[in-house]
Amino acid sequence: FNIPDIKNEPIKSYMPGSPERIELKKMLNDLRSVELELPMIIGGKEVTTDHRVRISPPHDHKHTLGYYYQGDASHVQMAIDTAMLARDKWNSMSWHHRAAIFLKAADLFAGPYRAKINAATMLGQSKNAFQAEIDAACEMADFFRYGVRCMTDIYKMQPESAPTTWNYNEFRSLEGFIFALTPFNFTSIAGNLPAAPAMMGNVVVWKPSKTAVYSAAVIMEVLMEAGLPDGVINLVYVGGPTAADVIFQSPDFGGIHFTGSTGVFQGMWKTIGENIQKYKSYPRIVGETGGKDFIFADPTADPQAVAIAMLRGAFEYQGQKCSAASRAYIPRSIWDDVCTRFGNELATVKMGPPEDFTNFINAVIDESSFDKLAGFIEQAKKDADAEVLFGGKCDKSVGYFIEPTVILAKKPDYITMVEELFGPVLTIFVYEDEDLDLTLKILDKTSIYALTGAIFSQDRYNIERITKRLENAAGNFYINDKPTGATVGQQPFGGARGSGTNDKAGSIFNFLRWTSIRTIKENF
Ligand code: GLU
Repeated sequence: FNIPDIKNEPIKSYMPGSPERIELKKMLNDLRSVELELPMIIGGKEVTTDHRVRISPPHDHKHTLGYYYQGDASHVQMAIDTAMLARDKWNSMSWHHRAAIFLKAADLFAGPYRAKINAATMLGQSKNAFQAEIDAACEMADFFRYGVRCMTDIYKMQPESAPTTWNYNEFRSLEGFIFALTPFNFTSIAGNLPAAPAMMGNVVVWKPSKTAVYSAAVIMEVLMEAGLPDGVINLVYVGGPTAADVIFQSPDFGGIHFTGSTGVFQGMWKTIGENIQKYKSYPRIVGETGGKDFIFADPTADPQAVAIAMLRGAFEYQGQKCSAASRAYIPRSIWDDVCTRFGNELATVKMGPPEDFTNFINAVIDESSFDKLAGFIEQAKKDADAEVLFGGKCDKSVGYFIEPTVILAKKPDYITMVEELFGPVLTIFVYEDEDLDLTLKILDKTSIYALTGAIFSQDRYNIERITKRLENAAGNFYINDKPTGATVGQQPFGGARGSGTNDKAGSIFNFLRWTSIRTIKENF
């Protein structure tokens, strides 16, 4: 089976006057001028309820983008039953046909739906055009296309046969349904978490974040247009606890594909454990959770490279990437230089709604996130162990805007060096040059997480030594680059410790979790 040559989807520039910019601007206007009604999609059918929930842009919360219909436990059960009914049909299709559907979906995201998925992400999740493009259009297409490559690589993994013995690996789907629980911060992750198990022949109940329903509806629209059979992926808008109550009691529960908070993941793991005897098989539990991602510079680091990594790594998409740099360790000898350069770079960025393409910073996702972040910032303004060096203003009158904020911590275990805040707040600890080794030890122990990290050095020996020393501190480790922006096919993504099961999104390591192999031996 030959698949087309797979490459990363090229990122469009959206320069003033470019056709893609004109199309995206028009789509933004079109979407803002209607109020969409978003039903759940179960078995390919639209399902409405009498509970409508308003959707508004985080940067303009008085505006109404539309409404989604919220379901209850009965809808979750309906989605499970529908998925289980679709399972035999989906499995009976050859995997080539399943692959073809997802390749078509990738082309739809990269082509006719590019403006729509980007605009929905910009409005619904307050992402600027560039951040939407690298996520909703490009990474989405990459996840689906590289996913098809993973399928081809897996299905050809066959054991040896002997002269009178035929051995065969049959890559069965899991005997049950998969629960995909997806986050707001990447539209591509919202697409990939239900899609990857489905590509491997599984059926899925998909619950998106309540703050990203607007783009989830577009993902579902594209999957259906690509020819996904009814019932293979069922989209329900329900509260987390409501979904969990039904899902984890079901004997058909086969696995979970999750990106979200550590607390939620651990809670679900516990519930799954408590119910383990109900299930036909041990469920596959795959999750990417929190991060407290770092930048560590040594005295030989290039101060300009460090300053840029701090700005982009910590503040792109308002720091709401699991991979975002949220703590930095800078040696005293280069700190003044790094700080001045960072200040100069920061002065060039603007904050405001994403519809104005010159705004680098947009709003944080919702009021509870805003309040939490504002609380930490206010606390830092008062604490003797901290100093707010840049930013610090928070204003939710129109949208949930928080200025890019840099806190200088006088102690390496100051609370914002330790806790995951998930917002545009970077905390810096300046260490004495002679304490480099001690600082590495502290860095490694300070947080429960190990998702991403970046080191900056121009000394080859130090690069080797620090890389080894921090071997368990991050699942994605960057040398002289920011810790965000993993590209599908290039840097498989995921971390260990409190950051997840490290099943590496977008790679064969992840896809192998969605199949249960029957090994067949026949003598002849
Ligand atoms: N893959 C993204 C990156 O490398 C982060 C994904 C996430 O936030 O979960 O920046």
